[in-house]
Order: sequence, then structure tokens, then C-alpha cells
Amino acid sequence: MTQTERWTLGASHPWGWGDEVVGAASEARLPGGVARRFVNLDNAATTPALKAARQAVVDFLPWYSSVHRGAGIKSRLSTVAYEEARTAIGAFLGVDDARQGVVFVKSATEGLNKVARGLSGTGATVFTTVMEHHANLLPWRLHAAAVSYIRTDDDGVIDLDDLARRLDAAPRGPKLVAVSGAYNTTGYCPPIHRLAALAHAHGAEFLVDGAQLIPHHPVDLRGGAPGEEIDYLVFSAHKVYAPFGAGVLVAPRHVFHGVPDLVGGGAAGQVTLDDVSWADLPDREEAGSPNVVGAVALAAALRRLDELGRDAVEAYEIELTAYALRRLTTVPSLTLLGPRDRRTAILTFVLDGVPHDLVAAILGYRHGVGVRAGLFCAHQGMRRLLLSGRGAGVDGAAGAGAVRASLALYNTREDIDVLVDALCDIAAGEGAGEFARDAHGDYCPLGWRPADDDIAWRSEAGAPLSAGGL
Ligand code: PMP
Repeated sequence: MTQTERWTLGASHPWGWGDEVVGAASEARLPGGVARRFVNLDNAATTPALKAARQAVVDFLPWYSSVHRGAGIKSRLSTVAYEEARTAIGAFLGVDDARQGVVFVKSATEGLNKVARGLSGTGATVFTTVMEHHANLLPWRLHAAAVSYIRTDDDGVIDLDDLARRLDAAPRGPKLVAVSGAYNTTGYCPPIHRLAALAHAHGAEFLVDGAQLIPHHPVDLRGGAPGEEIDYLVFSAHKVYAPFGAGVLVAPRHVFHGVPDLVGGGAAGQVTLDDVSWADLPDREEAGSPNVVGAVALAAALRRLDELGRDAVEAYEIELTAYALRRLTTVPSLTLLGPRDRRTAILTFVLDGVPHDLVAAILGYRHGVGVRAGLFCAHQGMRRLLLSGRGAGVDGAAGAGAVRASLALYNTREDIDVLVDALCDIAAGEGAGEFARDAHGDYCPLGWRPADDDIAWRSEAGAPLSAGGL
């Protein structure tokens, strides 16, 4: 099935996969003592763990030991588990082993910085957009010889013709096109394989920041036709249901040469007093003791996604997002940012006349709905969205920002209804008078202190986890 066919699928899993996730039924006691099922709509920041990932950690820990260099049985088993995780992740993504390596890092941010440091001094031009998350922007600004910003429209949609023109006009030297597979601000999913083909036709390599893509959409790095291959991919395990500190960088083997960016044990082959030879990939890029538990948990989460059916998960989330888009249009004075089509499960909006962080605070404290407010580590892109096009003039002044609700496989229509009902109340003026900024500038319920014993969490089994405030 092509990416375009999948986008138009209407099929749906009717209930979401709440049973698969740790904490989907968590109850929060809100200020004032009301207990509510917590509606988590901040999945673009971090997702809860899949039970399969938690179980993999529980099962593995009795065998956990050092990897690669230990001779004991536990060490050998840990090494097998770690390397099997790498192989499984490669297979999940369609990595071409002859051409590419899978490197465990701690996050998408680390993976992008690694690639950028590798470009240092090569005279490379990086083609990206102002819409990127800072993790896919600042490393290029620091290490590339030049950064060329591909034109995007008022919704943040990439202009492919502009990219072609820029690639044609590029100075000599290596070229890398680096864009998000799904934007954490608008949810927009650019046509990554078309972009890859365009980059390759101009002698450039192609990188996808997959932090928001991998959790929601099936990805095959090989693409559907020669030339469509994705050369580099990064993503973080904590956004794909395995929050144990791991991340992944897939990169062409040829880029890893010279001195690794991090040197130490494991990265070196032979060391003498005057000389050192560097190990082969992936060891040379994983100096120090790796995060074995994180790798095992991530592989288990991805395996579980495969078992649930990546197409089914995607179809369910597309359907849920479409429902959310329809329902959000019923909220008075709400402006949605970003394009209507080709968007992943991210909904970013402003409510006319109500500061974005006040909306988020009321949702959180009064309604038990977790969202995010601000500029989402994409300052320039968000300012552009807020000041132009659909968001024209709305909340576009100093201290500007928006509210982001982001969905995942365990969210339901009921969650969307809770959000939309709450937003209608807020748009009607409910709650605002009961909130004020605290000493840190954050909106809080008037007279409420985090240390007050009025917020508690209960585990899935019902046991209180904390009753002493934040
Ligand atoms: N890229 C995108 C699109 C993101 O949304 C994020 C996280 N918000 C990152 C990169 C960075 O991910 P991490 O913080 O896990 O390194």
C-alpha cells in the first residue's frame, strides 16, 4: 500500500488501544478534590509506555549485565538482547544493512547533533525549513557551511519547486536535505519519498527527523522506487511508547569516518600511547556503556506495534484526527494552525482572546486534560504560523504561543469530546477569573499551591502514588 493510499483509508479500530498502554486509566484528583480520569493529549511530547515495553524490561532485568566485553553468561545474553534489538529495529524500518547502520543514541536530538558534527568542515549545505523543531535546526546552523531555508507556505507546507531551485543553485560541496517526517507544530506530513527522490536527483542526501512520524505512520526507508530511499532517520523511544532513555539514528555507513564525536571505551579498536584505530560501525559511534534496557524496551514496543498492525494504528489515528478536526470547528473563536490535509495526530490552535497558557492551565487543572502550550521548540516556525495566514494576528504578540493537543493510539473519541466541551466552556469565559500567574509566570488556580495536599495520583491498581503535591 502506498503512503497516499493509506492517507485516504477510512478503516478504523473502534476503541483505540487503551488496554495496551500503562496508565491509560489513571485518575487525577484536581484542585478542589474532584477526581477525573486523566485525558492525556500531550503525546507529541512523550507517550506513555506500552505494556509490552514494560514487560520486556521486567523480563530482561534479571539477565541484565554489561554488553560486548563481558565473558559471563549474563553478559553474553545481554549482548545478544542488545544486538537483537538493533536488528529488529533495522527490520522494522527497512534499513539497508549493506548501506546503512543503526546507532543507539539517547534521543532524536543526539542523533541529529551527531550527523551535524559529522558535516563540520566538509563545506556542506543543509536544506531545511524554518518550521523545524530546534533539534533539526540548531545543529545545522552550528556545523554546516551554509543553511538554505526551503520556502513554506502560511500553513508550513513545503514548496518542492523551491527546493529544486535551491538545489540547482547550491554551491559545490556535500548537500543534505533535512526535514521532519511530521511537524510537531502543525502535524503536517510532507511527502518524504518524493522529497528523497528530488534530493537524490540533485546529488543531495536526505534526512528525516522521524520523532513525530515513527509513532504514527508505517515507514519503509527503502521507499517504493529507486531514488526514494531515506538516507538518514532519527527518532526517540520516549515518543514511541518506550520511555527508557533510548533513541535511534540510522545513517549511511560512509558518513562515519575519522574521529567519532564521542571517544572512549568501545569506540576504539587498538590504542597505543601515540595512536588509536577506531572500531567499525556501530561500536565506533556508541562510546561508553550503552543503554541496553532502553534498546530492549524500544524493540519490544516496535514489535508490539507490528503485532497490533501499523496500518491499523495509522488508520485509527487518521480517523480520530479527522473526528477531532470536525469537533474543533464547533468551538467558538478557535483557529486551527497548519494544513487540513496530510496531518498526523497533532492539533494546534489558539482561542481568540484567551492566552494559550491560560487555556492549557484551565484544561489541566479544571478538566484533567493534559495539553501543551507555547512555541513547541520551533520558535521561528510558530511565530510565522501565528503572524500569517490562518493564524493572522491571533495571539501573535509578545509572549505568543498556541495550544497543542496530540493524540496517540490509546486516545478515543470520548477524549476528544472532553477536550472540545472544555474548550467551549473556556471560550465562553468559564474559569479564567479563577486563575492567576504565579511567581514563575505560570497560570495556577488562585490561592492554590502545588504543595497543598489536593492533587493525588492513583496507579492503575488504585494505590495512591503521591498525595503530597507536585
Ligand atoms: N524533532 C521533533 C519533530 C520533535 O517533536 C522533537 C521532540 N519534541 C524532537 C525532534 C526532539 O526529540 P527529543 O527531545 O526526544 O530529542
